[in-house]
Amino acid sequence: MDVKEIDSKLFTPGPLTTSMTVKQAMLHDLGSRDTVFINIVAHIRQKLLEIADASSDDYTAVLIQGSGTYAVEATFSTSVPQKNAKVLIIENGAYGQRMIKMCDILHIDYDTLSFSETEQVNCKSVEEKLKSTKYTHVAVVHCETSSGILNPIEQIAALVQQYGSDNTAFIVDSMSAFGAIPVSLKNGLITFLISSANKCIEGIPGFAFVICKRAYLLKCQGNSRSLALDLYDQYQYMEKSRQFRFTPPTHAIIAFKQALDELEEEGQLIYPGKTTVTDCFRIGNIGRLYSTDMEILAKCIKDVCVEMNIDLPLKNVD
Ligand SMILES: *Cc1c(COP(=O)(O)O)cnc(C)c1O
Repeated sequence: MDVKEIDSKLFTPGPLTTSMTVKQAMLHDLGSRDTVFINIVAHIRQKLLEIADASSDDYTAVLIQGSGTYAVEATFSTSVPQKNAKVLIIENGAYGQRMIKMCDILHIDYDTLSFSETEQVNCKSVEEKLKSTKYTHVAVVHCETSSGILNPIEQIAALVQQYGSDNTAFIVDSMSAFGAIPVSLKNGLITFLISSANKCIEGIPGFAFVICKRAYLLKCQGNSRSLALDLYDQYQYMEKSRQFRFTPPTHAIIAFKQALDELEEEGQLIYPGKTTVTDCFRIGNIGRLYSTDMEILAKCIKDVCVEMNIDLPLKNVD
């Protein structure tokens, strides 16, 4: 079949522009019990551990239907016991604030440590907070997609280890970093690392995943305030049957397998920048975008700025 790229390029934080081959991978209808499908799911779970530099003895990748938010909510719902828990949410933007909203709705007791949306999380303040109170869980966003700021999760993880109890869980929303910014779970300091199919790995929307420290997850039975968002149940069912509990997003899974293969060929890294306090707009740089796409975009921005009489330092754009 002759299929051409007909859509506009997406400079957005997801869904994003995917390769033609990722789109083409979806031209199959696989049943949820099809061996081919089941093997793809197993392959994806293993590959995710590899990208996270996590040993399969200590970690497991749990896939869950829905967008990234579903996986973040599933992580809170499943990992936080209904009694005697206190969570610290460290936030510097919209996605951190979404965690606060989740904890409110789930009736989870929490403190917040807030920073301006134009600055990184400050480790000194985190240290003081962790010294002052014993938390059962600490949560932070890796790359705050709303601003592009990358938070120092390795340092925060070390502080959680130093000041928390042996069982303090460290939850990282790595939605827009995983697959682009290297991460290592080798030292075991991250308990839950969350991301989704349609961010840096360049799959299509439909499911998200949580890389969970297995020993911790196994203690989470019965915690969940939700049936569908129970990561523990999802894990147990997947381990026993190698299938999803409820209808799996088969096309999104096949597309993701293709995207993982393509990621392996690329090995390319993308780093987010910072914003300013002034009025601004965001340019997504994840997805199937290349330097020529960025040059064309910069040219368009320049044309619009000229048209609107806005003086911008875009001197290098012809
Ligand atoms: C995209 C994203 C999410 C999830 O958003 P969905 O719309 O549910 O996919 C969560 N956190 C961060 C940091 C994100 O970039």
